[in-house]
Amino acid sequence: MTPLIQAATMLALAAIAAPDAAIAQDMLGGVPVIDKLDVNTLPRGKLTTYWFKAAETNNGQWLYVPVIVARGAEDGKRLLLNSGIHGDELNGIRVVQLVMADIDVTKLKGTVIGIPGLNVSGSLHANRQMYLSADGGALVDLNRNMPGDEAKGNNGIRFDGRVWNRLWAGNVDLVIDMHTQSTGTAYPLYVWADVRLDGVQKIAEALNPDVIKYDPGDKGTVETEFDRAKIPAVTFELGRAKTWQHDLILRAVSGINRVMVAEGMLAPPAATPATLQKPFIGNETTSINASSGGFVELHVALLDKVTKGQSLATQMNPFGAVVKEYTAPQDGLVLAIGDEPTREPGSLIVRLIHWNPQDSCKQGC
Ligand SMILES: [Zn+2]
Repeated sequence: MTPLIQAATMLALAAIAAPDAAIAQDMLGGVPVIDKLDVNTLPRGKLTTYWFKAAETNNGQWLYVPVIVARGAEDGKRLLLNSGIHGDELNGIRVVQLVMADIDVTKLKGTVIGIPGLNVSGSLHANRQMYLSADGGALVDLNRNMPGDEAKGNNGIRFDGRVWNRLWAGNVDLVIDMHTQSTGTAYPLYVWADVRLDGVQKIAEALNPDVIKYDPGDKGTVETEFDRAKIPAVTFELGRAKTWQHDLILRAVSGINRVMVAEGMLAPPAATPATLQKPFIGNETTSINASSGGFVELHVALLDKVTKGQSLATQMNPFGAVVKEYTAPQDGLVLAIGDEPTREPGSLIVRLIHWNPQDSCKQGC
């Protein structure tokens, strides 16, 4: 044996044995670490918190997703409240915290699974996407890769696979996936609803947002993949990224409580609820994107009604000279605005929503 091989053998012998996961329950800061969730085996009438092992990283450490489970005293629907799959979209995280803190498990029929911030990596980077270290670094959108694959593909696809298979599968009957518009842009309170599936419209209406869009969905999103599995799901947009908007957060908390009442999970409140304003229902959107680069002055606000030809925004170069005027290509309601003043070509200025009466658009186009 050469001295080098001898040294290598000694190093191998000195390697520390991997811990046996079966021996003891892992804990992190007093919170149990789980590899899989089965809500049906949890004690009834209890609220529990966990760290879910969602992905192993390049240095061998794990990304832990916070999970709060409220299992009611009696069985009923099982509602998933997901938030922060886009790491810079934060309003939904506060909604989950408040809803879960408010649940009286002794009166709850069914189970609520709250995820206050799914995309741990995105949150660390204050970014929409998950960071991948391989090949010098890349970003992946976790909300385009569901249901993922635990054993194949990049680490974002694997993250999605573990979340789908080990955290959600078999645990969920209804889904509200909370988002905001992307950084630099804003939505009101807004629900995407694929009303072709029974049960979706009921959730959307109980949430009582400013706007509901009937929409066939996008492959790989939490909403669409649950809908495809015949589990009613909506995407719930709450305003802006990177901030907590208390008015929208409180409206969302009330909306989720109404969903739980409508689904028989909670008893109706004793007091007669206030009359709610009806949401605007649309089935088609039109995005007005920047065709030049430069600074944008908006002439409209969220939820304004605009008519065809109306001025929406003016774009200027660094000297303040006008380079572009943007007008409404049709009548509609202002659904989204790009309110970060600098706008590059292709980025959103204003998005309008309207009702297209064509039969082919009835359920969204
Ligand atoms: Zn999002």
